[in-house]
Amino acid sequence: MKLLLASQNQHKKEEIFQIFKDYDVELLDLSFFKDCDDVLESGTTFLENAIIKAKYFSKKYNMPAIADDSGLVVHALGGRPGIYSKRYSGGSDIDNNIKLLDEMKDKDDRNAYFISVIVIYFPDDYYVHFEGRVYGEIAYQMKGNHGFGYDPIFYIKSYDKHMAELDSQIKNQISHRAMAIKEVRKRLDEIINYK
Ligand code: IMP
Repeated sequence: MKLLLASQNQHKKEEIFQIFKDYDVELLDLSFFKDCDDVLESGTTFLENAIIKAKYFSKKYNMPAIADDSGLVVHALGGRPGIYSKRYSGGSDIDNNIKLLDEMKDKDDRNAYFISVIVIYFPDDYYVHFEGRVYGEIAYQMKGNHGFGYDPIFYIKSYDKHMAELDSQIKNQISHRAMAIKEVRKRLDEIINYK
C-alpha cells in the first residue's frame, strides 16, 4: 500500500518513516511532489487538524494520505500549549522551551503528556484515526540534544531522562507517535484492503 505522508516537519517524517519501516506500507514523502504547500491548521482539536492535513493532500494527489497532529499538553497550564505547540512562542523550538519553562517556574504540578493523533484519509472521504500518548513531567531546565520540539524539557520518570537525552531508537519505541502507529498496526489489514 502507498501512503502519502502529509507532513513538512523533517523530524516528524524521520520518526514516522523509522517507526513504519517494518510495515507493509510504502510511505511517499511529500517533498517528492514539488508543489507541496503549507496547509492552514484551522481546527480546534488535534483530530480536526490531522483530518485537515490528511484530507487536503489526499484530495490533491488522489491517493490515501497519512497525517499526524501532535503537541504537548501541560496539566498546570489548563492543557496549553496543546494544539498551539508549534506556534507557542512565535519563535523557534528553543524559544518555545524557554517560554514554557518560564510559565512553569512557580508550578508544583509538573504533569504533562505528548499526544499524537494520526489520520489516514482516503480520496473518497473515508478516514480512520488513532491516538497515542506518552506521560511525563515538565523539567526545570533543558537537557539533551536528540529529538526536536519540547523533548529537552520533557522528563520521563521510568528512564530518569529527558526525552532529548534518549536516542532515537528508544524514543521511537515509547513516543506518542509510536503508540499511535502501534494502533494503526492493529488495523493495518483492514486499511490496506480498503477499496
Ligand atoms: P504540528 O506539526 O502542528 O503537529 O505541531 C507539532 C508540535 O508539537 C511540534 O512543533 C512540537 O512543538 C510539538 N511536538 C510534537 N511532537 C513532539 C515530539 O515528539 N517531541 C517534542 N515536541 C513535539
